[in-house]
Amino acid sequence: MNQANTDMQKIEIASNVLVFGGGLTGIRTADAIAAQGYPVLLVEPGEAIGLTAEPRPLNGYSPTEMDILNNLVKQVRASKDIEVLEQTSLARAAGVAGDYKVWLSGKEKLAEKHVGAIVVASEFTREPLNGAYGLEISDAVITQSDLEQALDSDSKKFTNKTVAFMVGFGQSGNPLVMERVLRSALELTQVEGSSVYIYVNDIKVAAEQLERLYLETRDKGALFFKLLKAPAISSQEGGVSITYNDPVILKDVTIQADIVVIEEALQANCANSQLADTLRLDLGSGGFLQTDNVHRFPVATNREGIFVVGGSRQARALDQASMDAENAALQIRELLGDGTKMVPANKAVLDTGKCTFCLTCYRCCPHGAIYWSTDNKPIISPIACQGCGICASECPMDAIQIGEFSDTTIHEQVNSSMADKGKAPKIVAFCCQNSALEAAQMAEDFGIALPKGLRLIQVPCAGKIDLDYILNAFVEGADGVLVMACHPGNCKSEHGNTYAQWRVNDAQRRVSDAGLDKARLRFETLASNMASDFARIVAEFETRLKNLTGN
Ligand code: SF4
Ligand code: SF4
Repeated sequence: MNQANTDMQKIEIASNVLVFGGGLTGIRTADAIAAQGYPVLLVEPGEAIGLTAEPRPLNGYSPTEMDILNNLVKQVRASKDIEVLEQTSLARAAGVAGDYKVWLSGKEKLAEKHVGAIVVASEFTREPLNGAYGLEISDAVITQSDLEQALDSDSKKFTNKTVAFMVGFGQSGNPLVMERVLRSALELTQVEGSSVYIYVNDIKVAAEQLERLYLETRDKGALFFKLLKAPAISSQEGGVSITYNDPVILKDVTIQADIVVIEEALQANCANSQLADTLRLDLGSGGFLQTDNVHRFPVATNREGIFVVGGSRQARALDQASMDAENAALQIRELLGDGTKMVPANKAVLDTGKCTFCLTCYRCCPHGAIYWSTDNKPIISPIACQGCGICASECPMDAIQIGEFSDTTIHEQVNSSMADKGKAPKIVAFCCQNSALEAAQMAEDFGIALPKGLRLIQVPCAGKIDLDYILNAFVEGADGVLVMACHPGNCKSEHGNTYAQWRVNDAQRRVSDAGLDKARLRFETLASNMASDFARIVAEFETRLKNLTGN
């Protein structure tokens, strides 16, 4: 197997950071980044940074912990390494990791800033779910936020009251929702004469200290009822009536409560979709700013140099959001380092003479590495380009080539691999260098026997496998072609495997039209450690080709 050059080269970059969002996560992130020695611009669209921008319940924190949080806000305001801009929004952004330009819209004018990295720390929001229970909010039907406020102002108003919580029937269980319920329920158990009932679909305690909080709440007298179906609740004079099917006695039971507390959904901030547009981020499920891709965890996005922390990536408790802040600071140190960056030597190069300015490359680049210049030309950033080759394969004019993975080089590799006129079926396997190629290498290292007619062609990403490569391999004499990509959700360039699958589907139609069995072309996904699966797939494919060709 001929391995292509994977050399890197050094480029100078900007080394200050924009943190967007001034809740406690944003503040912690700004502080952690400044502690690494990088100047920070902390931007909050609301009135002020700090606790006012905070959606998490803070009633569970001790006075000491609240002092620590308040001091952190003061410390950030006083820091000479952190510039705070309030009532300021992000109007536009362009550029790439190490070289972002952002336009901030403040009280007076639009300001242009140059930063090396961006952290989004927008907070999640809370939405009452009374509609899911068919209830109107009233004195007897309150939300979790209403209860927290009431407990903060005067918990004695719950003296001799029966309070029932509804959790997990209006949405699937969530540890942060559970934590809020448990903290409030525990506080209520300390109020004289109170009774606490918790009706729950699924007790979610998979978070630090949550199991302990659950046991403590139960030990202090709160009663838990785990039900498959939400109880029927009806308002009545001075309270509510709650009817549920008891899972132990298997009978309907009705109790009276003074107050029922309805859970709240923790939702993505509605500003996220605008932020996603501005920053060219993929939106994840529920409108949060991180897709479900293993390469993005814990705080990365589809854009290199843009990170998401806390409530911008999912509804997270304060300690989890603090971990995100530390993770973002570490990743920024890794990214910005000493103000220089190593980038792949094999990257996209544009021949403007061939370009017809169709915008295809700009739209398909998963790393946002392509700009559109003011005179309407694509510009490929050498800092952000990861050399995946998706743009090169999608360009209708073949105006983009990728270093040592140029079309000419790959065609030559395929052609020369066909020179051997042995009897074994000739198999051309286009292998993503991040997965299938490593699996193949491992199979060879383990001494696993592979088909004699197998020829491996390295590509930087399966998204680089052009339709022409596949068809040319058949024209040059291949008996079969394998296209081997990363598993879904595991592509470093997000959709490279999807592009490859589409091209294989297209090629199968054309191969069929040309009178060949489309089973001669196969698409597979693999992880880099799947050496035996690689060997199994190529062996099965060889057998299939022998049956088809009679060789
Ligand atoms: S895809 Fe090709 S032709 Fe279209 S703008 Fe990009 S380089 Fe130009
Ligand atoms: S090679 Fe990949 S990262 Fe580079 S410009 Fe093309 S699509 Fe973007």
